[in-house]
Amino acid sequence: MSSLSKIIEKYAAFEAEVNAYAVTIYLKHCSTCKGICCKPEYCEESITSPFLRRLRQHFVPDAVYDSKRGWLTKAGCALPVGRPPVCHQYLCDTILSMQPAADFRYALTLLSNLVNHIGKNARARKHIVELQEASELKRINFTRFEKQLDEADIAFKQVRVYLDGGVSKLGSLQDLKKISLPSRL
Ligand code: SF4
Ligand code: SF4
Repeated sequence: MSSLSKIIEKYAAFEAEVNAYAVTIYLKHCSTCKGICCKPEYCEESITSPFLRRLRQHFVPDAVYDSKRGWLTKAGCALPVGRPPVCHQYLCDTILSMQPAADFRYALTLLSNLVNHIGKNARARKHIVELQEASELKRINFTRFEKQLDEADIAFKQVRVYLDGGVSKLGSLQDLKKISLPSRL
């Protein structure tokens, strides 16, 4: 298996795991909310980014892309994986304001930034979804990508244990700050 295929498999497995967990956290807020956060302009990156297109070839969605609705269907986003990182990063003020403490808000901020962290500086200073040519994907920094995937995975475990009530404090801030700074507290 090529280095690219390998990281695509790993990234997809991680994104699917984060998606599944995030649903359990956000469902109680989002299921009764009248706001629609998804916008076709956010979906568009999944069409323009060779990396996200490649993910979609491996993990085919049930629906067809629509220029007006993007990937949004009555059942929610049709993309199992390969969503633009911005879709994971969105964290509304309503959800943040309902958290009982600053550490909870930081834990959610981390959760929302895990997927984005993996692709940072994939080639020079560019995020992997910013690369515009498919040929560039073979020349990304695979070592960095895998390192960041490991960092995201470690942070994910810490965040989950914390949010599920397993520990009273988040883990080492030094490591977590690589994913996201606690700036929205
Ligand atoms: S993220 Fe916030 S605004 Fe969006 S659907 Fe959920 S609760 Fe509503
Ligand atoms: S989550 Fe899916 S439907 Fe919503 S903006 Fe992102 S790609 Fe589009």
